[in-house]
Amino acid sequence: MRAEITVSGIVQGVGFRPFVYRSAVENALTGYVRNRADASVEIVVEGSESNVKQFLHDLRQKKPPLARIYSMETKFLEERKEFDKFSVLRSSVRAELSGSVIPPDVSICENCLRELRDPKDARHDYFFITCTDCGPRYTIIEGLPYDRANTTMKEFKMCSFCQKEYSEPANRRFHAQTVACPKCGPKAYLASNRGEAVSSGDPIREAGKLLEEGYVLAVKGYGGFHVATATTKDKPIVRLRAVKHRSQKPFAIMARDLETVKSFATVSEKEAELLTSYVRPIVLLKKNSDYFLSDLIAPDLHNIGVMLPYTGLHYMLYDNVREPAFVMTSANPPNEPIVTNNDEAVQKLGGVVDYFLFHNRLVAQRCDDSVVRVHGEDTSFIRRSRGYAPEPIRLKHAVDKCVFALGGELNAASCVLVGDKAFVSQHIGDVENLETLRFLKSASEHLLRLTNSKPDAIACDLHPKFTTTQLARDWADELGCPVVQVQHHHAHGAALIAEHGLEEIVAVVCDGYGYGLGGEAWGGEILYCNRQGEFKRVGHLEPQPMVGGDLATRYPVRMAASILSKATRIDEWLMANRTHLPHGKQEAEVIIQQLNKGLSPLTSSCGRVLDAVSAILDVCYERTYEGEPAMKLEAAALNGKDVKLQPIVKDNVVNTTTMVHNILNRRKTEASRDLAFSAQQYLAQSLAQTAVEEAQRLDIGVIGFSGGVAYNEHITQAIGHVVEENGLQFVVHRFVPAGDGGVSFGQAVASAWQTAR
Ligand SMILES: [Zn+2]
Ligand SMILES: [Zn+2]
Ligand SMILES: [Zn+2]
Repeated sequence: MRAEITVSGIVQGVGFRPFVYRSAVENALTGYVRNRADASVEIVVEGSESNVKQFLHDLRQKKPPLARIYSMETKFLEERKEFDKFSVLRSSVRAELSGSVIPPDVSICENCLRELRDPKDARHDYFFITCTDCGPRYTIIEGLPYDRANTTMKEFKMCSFCQKEYSEPANRRFHAQTVACPKCGPKAYLASNRGEAVSSGDPIREAGKLLEEGYVLAVKGYGGFHVATATTKDKPIVRLRAVKHRSQKPFAIMARDLETVKSFATVSEKEAELLTSYVRPIVLLKKNSDYFLSDLIAPDLHNIGVMLPYTGLHYMLYDNVREPAFVMTSANPPNEPIVTNNDEAVQKLGGVVDYFLFHNRLVAQRCDDSVVRVHGEDTSFIRRSRGYAPEPIRLKHAVDKCVFALGGELNAASCVLVGDKAFVSQHIGDVENLETLRFLKSASEHLLRLTNSKPDAIACDLHPKFTTTQLARDWADELGCPVVQVQHHHAHGAALIAEHGLEEIVAVVCDGYGYGLGGEAWGGEILYCNRQGEFKRVGHLEPQPMVGGDLATRYPVRMAASILSKATRIDEWLMANRTHLPHGKQEAEVIIQQLNKGLSPLTSSCGRVLDAVSAILDVCYERTYEGEPAMKLEAAALNGKDVKLQPIVKDNVVNTTTMVHNILNRRKTEASRDLAFSAQQYLAQSLAQTAVEEAQRLDIGVIGFSGGVAYNEHITQAIGHVVEENGLQFVVHRFVPAGDGGVSFGQAVASAWQTAR
């Protein structure tokens, strides 16, 4: 019997061909296997019928751990006796299917780590040791099929030792495209901050020592540079904050091992599993009572972002030092994407760091670390990037076209939706400047190429002035396809429907800002959404003035003044808080005048209400990074209790004026912690109760929660509690971030549903 098989999924770069080879030989079959340029694998086997059947069974049942089979097409034919053995053939340039893709980067495996540590091994101390089961993939691949010549490893010609392992079917490096050793592979070296090489016999361990001593280094990894320094001293972090112009934003850290993490943070079983998984994301953990690292790493927050080493190079940094962890933050100049190129690093980071730890392999795709958080047993994404991208999200309901979505303006990522798979790009960032826009373009083109897709429609935000909206129009013109604009909060709600395979939902969507249907600023919304791509705003937070527009986003005192002015005279309060405004008394006077005129733009944003409360409670007076006042408010509310602020909801509009005014009035008698807790509780309960009533009226069984505010554990749990107490199902995001990193996915599904009608 002869079988011709096409396997699509994640089958290149995961040891699939070597596995096919071994299975074929085991089953005494002849024929061949080869990669195709559409990321699928083509197999032809000949042999007895029972052996062929067993082989097909093995393909599905025994496949390598990182491989994903989405579909397998098999044609059975008469045996032709065409082959005398089974072989791995040179890749074919055929590209017919779309929907296959290459794998994400994979952290160093146990076997490679053991060899790295073995003085007798040829790859002892080799910082980029890898095999078919581990190593970079997405970040080194320039094109398909996945062969060394199509990766940034092409510069490094294999030595005879590596070549031998590469060609031995029984070897675990058989056809491992990243195979390399100290002789033939990429080299690491130290350099001064002007890029001049510093001679060192052991540059990586030397770098570890410099870090421990408090120097600041830029360390090149798989997807770009990290800026690194010690975690137990304040001084280097103060310096790093000054040069990076990041006064408050938390830095992620990389700890030497799991035991060490447990010495400063609480780690649940689920969190430990994530920390040590082959993805090695940054996991947001709670600092424990013994926390002993510098308080400047995550100032005024109860959480800290921690990851474990994921390359041989990272492991070696800790070899000769006692430092428990190093700061490891993406090296990006303000509002620009992460730096990947050595020359660019010297130019852009030379003024920030003391030394560089370079290696000489190029980065094909820049990729930041992923960030996740565990709520109970569920993982929620904050940033879905290295280790996850570009693995697709599988949909329960396939769509009949290919949609390409560009996301919004902040925390953008793009998305290619084809059939039942959504490929979301790595984290791109805030698309406000040219550099990031260029990154969005190139990452998107790469994703379209890798998935062999041609869009039938381009989706983007409703905001007429977003750079992504303009880009969508240009792109659509070029391709001759329509643009579909999707309202921001609708995209959040649609994402929930698609992730959970639902028909309809009442979604509570709370964030900072989204362009509303009439151009208003939305951000505390209750929407009805369905799988026809329709939505309706059925409730929201009370619209509040933002005195000075965007300035009110930056200075929470302005937001507090805006809301309070609707309930009371604020002159006295504002004057008492004038030191928290950059221009003091003068600015306070202007604010009062402007509020009296009543011409400020309005917003129903939940984030802005949390900002106002955080200013009134003395928690945060300036927003230096996205979500800062709300995140600090969450930390301030820990161990608080409910002082019971009576919910006021009229015509499905949740009152916030009285709530904020009550908080101010009760400051004298209640603990700040309790009021912070109660403000969160108020918003959660009144939004949830309104959503429940709407769901019951519309006869819908599911309520979801989305938007950046969903990262707040207290608010999420409190909404869930109300929903479940009323006998309804509560859903949150499982596969995409609740924040704006999930918006492109929502745009893609909503527009595919709309255009299918
Ligand atoms: Zn390995
Ligand atoms: Zn070699
Ligand atoms: Zn949003």
